[in-house]
Amino acid sequence: MTTTEASEQDLAPAPPVRRDVVVVGAGPAGTAAAIELARAGVDVTVVDRAVFPRDKICGDGLTTGALRHLEHLGLDPASVGSWQEVTNCWISSPSGTTRRFPLPRGQGTFAVVARRIDLDEALVDLARSAGAELREDTSVLDTIEFDDHVRVETSRGPIDARWCIAADGMWSPVRKHLGLTVPGYRGDWHAFRQYFTNVAPAAARDLFVRFESDLLPGYFWSFPLPDGRANVGFGIQRGAKVAVGDMGPLWADLLSREWAQELLGPDAEPEGPHRAWPIPARIDGLALCAHRTLFVGDAAAACDPLTGEGIGQALLTGRRAAEAIVTTSERGDAARTYAAQVTSDLVADHRMSMLLVRAMRHRKGARTAIRLAGATPWTRRNFARWLFEDYPRAIVLTPRRWHHRMLSSPGAFREPVVPVA
Ligand SMILES: Cc1cc2nc3c(=O)[nH]c(=O)nc-3n(C[C@H](O)[C@H](O)[C@H](O)COP(=O)(O)OP(=O)(O)OC[C@H]3O[C@@H](n4cnc5c(N)ncnc54)[C@H](O)[C@@H]3O)c2cc1C
Repeated sequence: MTTTEASEQDLAPAPPVRRDVVVVGAGPAGTAAAIELARAGVDVTVVDRAVFPRDKICGDGLTTGALRHLEHLGLDPASVGSWQEVTNCWISSPSGTTRRFPLPRGQGTFAVVARRIDLDEALVDLARSAGAELREDTSVLDTIEFDDHVRVETSRGPIDARWCIAADGMWSPVRKHLGLTVPGYRGDWHAFRQYFTNVAPAAARDLFVRFESDLLPGYFWSFPLPDGRANVGFGIQRGAKVAVGDMGPLWADLLSREWAQELLGPDAEPEGPHRAWPIPARIDGLALCAHRTLFVGDAAAACDPLTGEGIGQALLTGRRAAEAIVTTSERGDAARTYAAQVTSDLVADHRMSMLLVRAMRHRKGARTAIRLAGATPWTRRNFARWLFEDYPRAIVLTPRRWHHRMLSSPGAFREPVVPVA
């Protein structure tokens, strides 16, 4: 080989790597999809521009719905260092009245707080051990769909696959590459989060949600973490009372209020700066698929518009995308199968949440909702389970989802986790 031939070879672009499925993004949505695909024997590569462990701005709260998916995926709670089970939730109405909403005890786990830096790393490890290939520190630069495959151009060369699962978060680059963004869309909620250490014993043990008049329909939260820590933050709906640009001064103001000082205690100290990120919650407003691409999690705007929770929805949509690819025949349309399934799973709940958000926008609506929820021990118990997504949001309106143990199903992780081969 001459020197000229050798240097021409060096310059030639790398040929595409071929896979059955490429997943973009290794958060809960992408890893859930990868775990299911790898276990079904599908050849899957996950790419993420981050190197794990990586942080994700989040309240770190895991609902019963999310916990059931994590259990199904075979996650061992012991593999998540900051895993903290919660059995008491305190909710304050705009008038300042605070009520306790207990979650069942001794029947499994109904609510957990776990730092995303730990949870997402454990899910990445689970995906790897299931047989998925993980490429970290690899950015997706372009996505091109062809009739029979999709090409994902990455910072480390192209990947050709039969299907692409876009699990690339709120700003989904894949959605942009395919021209499917909604002009001007910047999320439906915007939220701040800051970690605190040395918090008062109640804040290190229980979960607090406070509907302050100036945040409605948004709220302030304090979620407990091990070692005297808490994840503290607040979220507002875009276009409601507070402008996103005013959230910084409002954060300082909220923390200086008497109830916040009492809740966090005199020794509480912030761990690092506060950080903000949007929350996309319009599952019925964005395309769920393209020709060979399935959008999941935040890339599908799957968060609950009432609470801003999205981990359970990310896990659900990731699993549904994998199921559609595994069960649809070679010539079938997995993307449309997936979109139809997710519409059936989530759109009725989304609409119900939107109705409740409308009621919670006003002081009177928020006060009435919390008073009704806290009226009796039965309403308190069932409201807490409904709020933590033990039941679907629109369960009353969707009889197809009723079953005889609807209000008495056990929580997740009742049995020790047995590793899945
Ligand atoms: C402040 C705040 C508080 C919240 N609190 C809660 C809560 O308590 N409970 C709850 O359930 N939900 C909460 N949420 C929502 C939750 O964080 C998200 O819904 C969830 O993280 C969605 O997971 P995902 O896998 O879809 O996306 P992500 O977790 O965002 O993962 C996307 C991945 O894509 C990767 N990526 C992006 N671009 C590229 C690229 N070009 N190339 C390669 N990789 C790329 C990123 O590095 C990232 O790892 C909160 C959100 C915010 C902002």
